[in-house]
Amino acid sequence: MSKINVTKTYLPPLEEYQGYLAKVWQTGQVTNQGPLLIELERELCTYLGVKNLHYVANGTVALQLALKALQIEEGEVITTPFSYVATTSSILWEKLKPVFVDIEPDTFNIDASKIEAAITKKTKAIMAVHVFGRPCDIEVIDTLSKKYKIPVIYDAAHAFGVLYKGRSLLDYGDISTCSFHATKVFHTIEGGCLVVNDKRVSDRVELMKRFGHQLDDHKMLGINAKVSEFHAAMGLCNISRVSDFISERKRIFELYDQMLPNGFARPAIGSDTDYNYSYYPLLFQSEDELMAVLDRMAKENIFPRRYFYPSLNTLSYINDAQKCPISEDITRRILCLPLYPGLEEQTVIKICKLLNK
Ligand SMILES: *Cc1c(COP(=O)(O)O)cnc(C)c1O
Repeated sequence: MSKINVTKTYLPPLEEYQGYLAKVWQTGQVTNQGPLLIELERELCTYLGVKNLHYVANGTVALQLALKALQIEEGEVITTPFSYVATTSSILWEKLKPVFVDIEPDTFNIDASKIEAAITKKTKAIMAVHVFGRPCDIEVIDTLSKKYKIPVIYDAAHAFGVLYKGRSLLDYGDISTCSFHATKVFHTIEGGCLVVNDKRVSDRVELMKRFGHQLDDHKMLGINAKVSEFHAAMGLCNISRVSDFISERKRIFELYDQMLPNGFARPAIGSDTDYNYSYYPLLFQSEDELMAVLDRMAKENIFPRRYFYPSLNTLSYINDAQKCPISEDITRRILCLPLYPGLEEQTVIKICKLLNK
């Protein structure tokens, strides 16, 4: 009985990947904005319909670069407690203070109606997450951003391929970041990107992602966020398949929907969203019930994940964070079920039968 995890990395046919490696051996260029990286950036812009896309080493450094490129050097960043830890840790790593605003119980996204009350003179940015690829309340956040002149960064790590009102979800906000980690809908083994609205900010990212200099001219403080040709090659193999990945995810997602009773709370997908079916979250009545399910599934070698746990405002290395009762409650009761291209129908049926018991 092979192990079933919440996700499984897609690997393209080896010969196809080797075809790209042959090109690397031809040119001898393995990194530093090589031809495969440039080709992938172009393909990503076409697929997503965006401009100013920077392919970088991972989704976390993308968040850090976003804060740096917006020249946020001190103060508070309004953010969500319901996300992967990188959303909060990137803020802390940049020596900024995360200010947590609780989430909506039905979308798990930051509750936009509570953001205004958290804005102070020290607020320098809003960093929101499109949790599980469902769009935040973009209109309300946009209005606040304009009113208070605070830039918005969307951590869109789950949102690859999602359209909101016909436009890529990565095209909203001052900057959107994405992760191309092996566990995500589109992957380049490790990797990520920034989509930057303002050309001047984009030019800063361009310099900052490779040490801040051009030859001997050191223009600004930078970091190394470059990506190798080997990673770009994986991206080129996968980008041509993303539409198929999403269709297959949709099929599995709908099978779960069909087989699970309405007793399980599931977030709805808005009618103005073309979804990427990135995650299948399920909300249980209690943490005890969740633990019992995890236990029972483990016996069958099936491992759903506690996405997300714990609530980030309760991290041990954060002092005096805001209380977020909704997030603290939901993080205790939520699981994501296995969902990936290649997941067999029989396995989905088995998981549903176990849950229904
Ligand atoms: C995966 C993820 C990240 C981090 O991306 P990496 O590429 O692994 O650094 C950041 N935020 C969210 C919401 C994620 O799910």
